[in-house]
Amino acid sequence: MLLSRFFKKKGPDADPVSPQERMIEEQIVRRGIDEPRLIEAMRAVPRHQFIPAAYRSHAYDDCAVSLDLGQTVSQPYIVGLMTRLLDPVESDRILEIGTGSGYQTAILARLARSVYTVERLAVLGQRARETLQSLGYDNIHFRIGDGHSGWPEEAPFDGIMVTAAPSALPEALLRQLKSGGRMVIPIGEELYTVTRSGEETVKVHHGGVRFVPMVEDGA
Ligand code: SAH
Repeated sequence: MLLSRFFKKKGPDADPVSPQERMIEEQIVRRGIDEPRLIEAMRAVPRHQFIPAAYRSHAYDDCAVSLDLGQTVSQPYIVGLMTRLLDPVESDRILEIGTGSGYQTAILARLARSVYTVERLAVLGQRARETLQSLGYDNIHFRIGDGHSGWPEEAPFDGIMVTAAPSALPEALLRQLKSGGRMVIPIGEELYTVTRSGEETVKVHHGGVRFVPMVEDGA
């Protein structure tokens, strides 16, 4: 796809390209992610507002950024790739495990009908809620707890996005996925999509990734 579809003409009078536009061009579109709704969502979400002040100057860098408490917001390309793999449509209800900063949550909330997001660390979950509410999102539901149990009261979901890495596929999450639905999940250091049709589960490998571990409380 032509980059010019996404980027304003550059010329002597053009505005300088913002760090966010440069991120989208260099880290997302040039690496092959060019789905227009997703690009639009990444353009609409101010990534720097999700990042603690101390690390904010790195908000649009090509790497994961610290959120304190040993957690990180994923590299922009990984957010783009995982969202592309999940491929949410406007009518979808999505479950997200690992709210973290809320950045991935915001991208999902722009593409789907609603997002149910679960975070283990109350400080991060609360901070993400405040950020997302200040930006006006009203289709996100928050829960503090262990994502291994998912959100049974709201299941089944059209899609499930897991942004912390368990060592094995959590059975409860699979049970909360609709037949025909898709889960995107890092297991150990490998990224997978898992699709369900009836009792059949198909797992497809999408390469190596590094995520913080999905912690098993009480384990
Ligand atoms: N998607 C996030 C990045 C998340 S980092 C973003 O865009 O910022 C992974 C998050 O998963 C961390 O916030 C971590 O606290 C959380 N996490 C780890 N184990 C968890 C568990 N068992 N249940 C819910 N959240 C968990």
